[in-house]
Amino acid sequence: MNNHNFALVLFSGGQDSTACLAYALANFDKVETIGFDYGQRHSIELEQRLIVLEHIRTALPSWATKLGEDHVLDLKILRDISDCALTSKAEIAFDKNGLPNTFVPARNLLFLNFAAAVGYRRAIHNLIGGMCETDFSGYPDCRRKTLDATEHSLSLGMAQDFKIITPLMYIDKAATWALASDIGGEKLTQIIIEHTHTCYIGDREHRHVWGYGCGECPACKLRKSGYENWVAA
Ligand code: ZN
Repeated sequence: MNNHNFALVLFSGGQDSTACLAYALANFDKVETIGFDYGQRHSIELEQRLIVLEHIRTALPSWATKLGEDHVLDLKILRDISDCALTSKAEIAFDKNGLPNTFVPARNLLFLNFAAAVGYRRAIHNLIGGMCETDFSGYPDCRRKTLDATEHSLSLGMAQDFKIITPLMYIDKAATWALASDIGGEKLTQIIIEHTHTCYIGDREHRHVWGYGCGECPACKLRKSGYENWVAA
């Protein structure tokens, strides 16, 4: 049995995955969330994701009834196979391929495979994620071509018709702010500003108009410029 109008959102507690969650809540009848504990440099993301879910439940009651179980999988094993800035104390830098050293090889593929396995158990075959080709990082496992192949492989490997839905694939950060605002209005925009976490450093002391963060890391810069471009548009 496939629940065609059910979706499982890869939800990290960041701006992008919160926009995807809003997209799912606006377009599906029942929505579950999944997150991964992969030994992030800081546990702030994992803490904020629960806070974001709670605020969505209270501020947006029509969505609260659709919002189902949240799943968190322990993938700390990623620390053992990756030496990178997101999971160690190393500085964030860019390698000769132009990829940030925050890149955990094939991380999104691993996440999607685990999400699909949970989806299989939950009879949910629509997986929704914030993968995006247009952001600065150029992660090859975020490209639509990779995801088409993954969708095919998951569907064959589990003999179920999986769909990987990527609402942010071809839009920039300003459009991500606009998307969330169009779907969830001012209440959702406020939740994103106040509670979603993007900063690589884990800074939640410095409050800007676009939310909390150091303001200097690549993730903060992208979030900031996206917000400014959205407001200016
Ligand atoms: Zn930052």
